[in-house]
Amino acid sequence: MPDVAVVGSGPNGLAAAVTLARAGLKVHVYEAAASPGGGVRTTELMEPGHVHDICSAVHPMVLASPFFREFGLSRRIRLEVPEVSYGSPLDGGRAALAYRSLDKTAAGLGRDGAAFRNLMGPLVDRVDGITDLTLNQLLRVPRDPVAAGLFGLRTLEQGSRLWGLRFREDLAPALLTGVAAHAVSPLPALAAAGAGLMLGALAHADGWPVPLGGSVAIAEAMIADLEAHGGVVETGARIGSLAELPPVRATLLDVAPPGLLRMADGKFPDRYRRTLESFRFGNGACKVDFILSGPVPWAAPGLADAGTVHVGGTREEMAEAENLVAAGRHPERPYVLVSQPSRFDASRAPAGRHILWSYCHVPAGSTVDMGEAVITQLERFAPGFRDVVVRYKVTTAAALADYNENYVGGDFSAGLMDLRGLVQRPVLGPVPWRTPIPGVYLCSSSTPPGPGVTGMPGFHAAKYALKDIFGLRVPTLSA
Ligand SMILES: Cc1cc2nc3c(=O)[nH]c(=O)nc-3n(C[C@H](O)[C@H](O)[C@H](O)COP(=O)(O)OP(=O)(O)OC[C@H]3O[C@@H](n4cnc5c(N)ncnc54)[C@H](O)[C@@H]3O)c2cc1C
Repeated sequence: MPDVAVVGSGPNGLAAAVTLARAGLKVHVYEAAASPGGGVRTTELMEPGHVHDICSAVHPMVLASPFFREFGLSRRIRLEVPEVSYGSPLDGGRAALAYRSLDKTAAGLGRDGAAFRNLMGPLVDRVDGITDLTLNQLLRVPRDPVAAGLFGLRTLEQGSRLWGLRFREDLAPALLTGVAAHAVSPLPALAAAGAGLMLGALAHADGWPVPLGGSVAIAEAMIADLEAHGGVVETGARIGSLAELPPVRATLLDVAPPGLLRMADGKFPDRYRRTLESFRFGNGACKVDFILSGPVPWAAPGLADAGTVHVGGTREEMAEAENLVAAGRHPERPYVLVSQPSRFDASRAPAGRHILWSYCHVPAGSTVDMGEAVITQLERFAPGFRDVVVRYKVTTAAALADYNENYVGGDFSAGLMDLRGLVQRPVLGPVPWRTPIPGVYLCSSSTPPGPGVTGMPGFHAAKYALKDIFGLRVPTLSA
């Protein structure tokens, strides 16, 4: 009989499972899908030898996350760190490029180089203080108050109509907006600016790594460690109710609030139930995966070396596209997030071929195929792109929701990422991972610190389960 049941094997379910198994507990993970990993799965989507990440592809937070640092992920798998973390193409064959080196980045930003350096430099210098602030419990006194102050002031600036105040050209604003737009939010907005500045600072610190072999390498490393500590992952095991689980002492649920409500079978007090019922989800994503006969023919030099490319044009154009999505519409010229993994990992495609990963934002529940709109945007900044496309596959937001029930309406953040959605996730309080049912914890990205492959929601939930139920301390996680 296991001591602990974990429902869901996404990076957060696995982070919880690893932490609990290493503390000496018997852990059983139940996964609805046929393979484990949740948002970190990799597969041959279209043709043999072409290996695509179904969800997550680029992992700015795995080198910064306290969980993955302690777990020593970078010693367990190979992480390729591109010299150019990300870039934004502009018309006229130009591009803004975020190199690992802040100096080199600033040097490419024309008259705004010094302004960009003044904005980002202090954040890069205090990046550990910023990740401590954003990846750990939010409702507490920051460990590095100076970092918190610098980050807060810059977030206020970049998250408001003041965002253009320090810039005179279009390169630096496009660079910043490309990252902020990850948040699936109207622009400018505070939560988007905060996420963008944190990811932007990481780009100049440890960089934005791409796991060799695809994001599944992260899940495999965690599962290997779990199994080495006696844990078990059972796939094809969807849990509809807590009553279906064996009588374990602790249950950790890597599910979204609707799943939590269903599983509790009416056992939650009214207030908590109402809070879960009113939990807000954000808009969705339409994914477009490509097989290419060669590299993307970017017009601007330098973009070929970028792990991630934010395709959407100027700051104003990206904001317009994101604001249309926020208003429930499908932009003709969407903001497209592009990753080119086979540029850094030869195992992802046969010699000469490439794969390309992309998605754009769409209204929640959308069934619209954005393939043509994405191709048109790529063609705009990479003339001849159409000619290198061998095949492509579209996954609409509605299909994404079917693929993983945590992505309600295609919202892969498992909860709206505005300011309220950051602090009330799903409840406002110092320990949002605890539920009112003793021994039952929520550990998905619907809890702080939210989406992205950080392992932190799972790690936080496991820490409380260890303390509350077993009276145990957090074990050593390193290999
Ligand atoms: C298209 C796309 C691109 C992304 N790109 C990036 C990126 O580049 N970088 C990044 O850091 N993040 C990215 N993300 C986000 C990232 O994948 C998620 O934030 C992360 O996977 C969340 O982890 P999780 O463990 O909370 O949940 P998930 O990874 O969603 O895993 C939850 C698991 O629980 C299972 N489950 C749910 N309910 C049940 C049940 N009742 N019984 C049994 N099993 C159940 C699901 O099947 C799933 O396997 C992307 C996501 C998507 C969809």
